[in-house]
Amino acid sequence: MRQYDLIERVRQYNPNTDEALLNRAYVYAMRAHGEQKRASGDPYFSHPLEVAAILTDLKLDDATIAAALLHDTIEDTPTTRAEIDQIFGPDIGHLVEGLTKLKRLDLVSREAKQAENLRKLLLAIADDVRVLLVKLADRLHNMRTLEHMPPEGRTRIAQETLDIYAPLAGRMGMHSLREELEDLAFRQLYPEANRLVSERLDAQADRHSHLIAEIEQQLTRKLAESGTAAVVTGRRKRPYSIWRKMERKSVGFEQLSDIFGFRVVVKTLREVYRALGIVHTTWPMVPGRFKDYVSTPKQNDYRSLHTTVIGPGKQRVELQIRTADMHEIAEYGIAAHALYKDSPDSPTEMLSRESNAYAWLRHTVELLAEGSNPEEFLEHTKLELFHDQVFCFTPKGKLIALPRKATPIDFAYAVHTDVGNHAVGCKINGQMGPLVSELNNGDEVDIITSKAQTSPPSAWESIVVTGKARLAIRRATRNAVRTQYAALGRRIVERLIQRAKRDYSDEKLKGALPRLARASIDDVFAAVGRGEMRPSDVGRAMYPDYKEERIAAVPPPKSETGWFGLKKGKAVKFKVPTAEQTAASIPIRGINSDLPVRFAPNGGAVPGDRIVGILNPGEGITIYPIQSASLKEFEETPERWLDVRWDMDERTPQRFPARIEVQSVNEPGTLAQIAQVIAEHDGNIDNIRMTRRSPDFTDCMIDLEVYDLKHLNAIIAQLRAKKVVAAAERVTG
Ligand code: MN
Repeated sequence: MRQYDLIERVRQYNPNTDEALLNRAYVYAMRAHGEQKRASGDPYFSHPLEVAAILTDLKLDDATIAAALLHDTIEDTPTTRAEIDQIFGPDIGHLVEGLTKLKRLDLVSREAKQAENLRKLLLAIADDVRVLLVKLADRLHNMRTLEHMPPEGRTRIAQETLDIYAPLAGRMGMHSLREELEDLAFRQLYPEANRLVSERLDAQADRHSHLIAEIEQQLTRKLAESGTAAVVTGRRKRPYSIWRKMERKSVGFEQLSDIFGFRVVVKTLREVYRALGIVHTTWPMVPGRFKDYVSTPKQNDYRSLHTTVIGPGKQRVELQIRTADMHEIAEYGIAAHALYKDSPDSPTEMLSRESNAYAWLRHTVELLAEGSNPEEFLEHTKLELFHDQVFCFTPKGKLIALPRKATPIDFAYAVHTDVGNHAVGCKINGQMGPLVSELNNGDEVDIITSKAQTSPPSAWESIVVTGKARLAIRRATRNAVRTQYAALGRRIVERLIQRAKRDYSDEKLKGALPRLARASIDDVFAAVGRGEMRPSDVGRAMYPDYKEERIAAVPPPKSETGWFGLKKGKAVKFKVPTAEQTAASIPIRGINSDLPVRFAPNGGAVPGDRIVGILNPGEGITIYPIQSASLKEFEETPERWLDVRWDMDERTPQRFPARIEVQSVNEPGTLAQIAQVIAEHDGNIDNIRMTRRSPDFTDCMIDLEVYDLKHLNAIIAQLRAKKVVAAAERVTG
């Protein structure tokens, strides 16, 4: 097969073929595959060329032939989709990409349970039915050259052909393709059965050759006598169909092979029924064997009359009676027939014929997918199963079936829980992509993981669509929170023991577990961290003579801005940590710390503030600035007070919420000036609220975010320097 031969084949059924396009595709594919070789040692390019030739038998359009030539370029050569689009247009680019996706199917592991998914995937990916046609031709050529494959690969490919591709061809009405695929696969999978059946068929054909000729002649003569020109051909039985019937119906070879099959092809529809009348009046018909697929075509548009009669030698004769058009559809499928039945009158007609043919094929594919009777290609009757699924691959070619709208996060959890928990990014078809996006059929997904991510963001729980992912995220975030509580609990217990001038050790605590009625020290820590167990109880369990240390309450310190928490003139008693306690205190690293930390609402602490932690059962610690009036309500529960200190990383500054109250004069633009001062000093304003308005002054409460106390004080000082500002104070909750 040469460039010229291929074009000539196309021109025979399509005089308007775009030769330049086909030539371009030919040369491009040949160059792209370059020195690559087939397993047979042939140049690789011989393969796409043969595939294209097979498709000319099906009389397919230029785009399909070009796509056939190019079908292995994206997967096997440096060619990209963009390049194909640029040179051949997006239509052909789309086809080649579809074929690239299907090619990945060949890498998928062949577990039996995947077969169903594979069939669905095949249909799901091939949104353009021409992709399926090229794929079938591709498979046919690979089956024809199967002997060059390594033996272990042959069986797999043959089994897959029998399970998936041959039935697909049949359902698409391409019977000659189906039969060839079946026979090639049968030969590979059951060589012995194939040999036996073939030998007997040969012997029988020899024995009955005169009978076949006689029936042919008689039929032709009878039809001609009534003015019907017909081509009558005896059909040779195919080994695979005999074998399958023997297997399925458990009948013997003789019973099956007695039957002679003939095909009667006439010109017009009227002649089809006339021929039937002649056959039935010449020989007795076998009851129950007549089927009229002409008035009621099969779903794949197969049309023919079927009947069985008792022939001249008392043997059963099966007949298929059809027009030439019907015959073409039966052999090659609808595409061949509808596309190039006659030479079209105009390009427009050509186009509409094309779109009709493909619309029909698309419809066929839908039927394949939906399948409502047991004979259907897809035995699955549940349509939604198919439409609701999306099929993706791991980089190693494992097929992952997910519900539609699934995200790469779902994919990651489907691969392995650890992959999901540590997922930080992904590549979709080689491109970096967001973890929160919708996957498409055929996507190859490569999940990027990082051990630095110890647990998944809890927000994922509401994004994922699979139950498996949701459960795993819930479990992981619950574990992460428990770990946080346990870490807090450990620090509390260690600090307590240290302050009591004892030595803390895990061993010592383990010895105390029975007294605490907990199974592990982590259980103890988590309970303490959650505030469900008093730290002093742990101390007593470890050291029976442990005494809780009371810290003397002292008045609040004067603050740098002079206002802290004393606005309403209330004096509050505070515990101020001693230097010694500070050494044993719990370091606070801000909101994203490994401890369950939150900051007091309505004006929290910022780094630089002296702070106190209050243990809230079930919530971790809340951090208050030591001057906070809210601390008063915890005075009666000293066991909830924790010594905490700031431990900020200066290289990664964080912002903290703070609140100020500003009194300003009523003048146009005042608020803008205040906002400007804050912005100029790198403060983020979260919220501004008017609290009081008098004829002269306005009070407003401003929530802002600052880096630390110095930053906050600088902003307050700048505000006070403004003429329009009468007073500016910090407020703590
Ligand atoms: Mn190929």
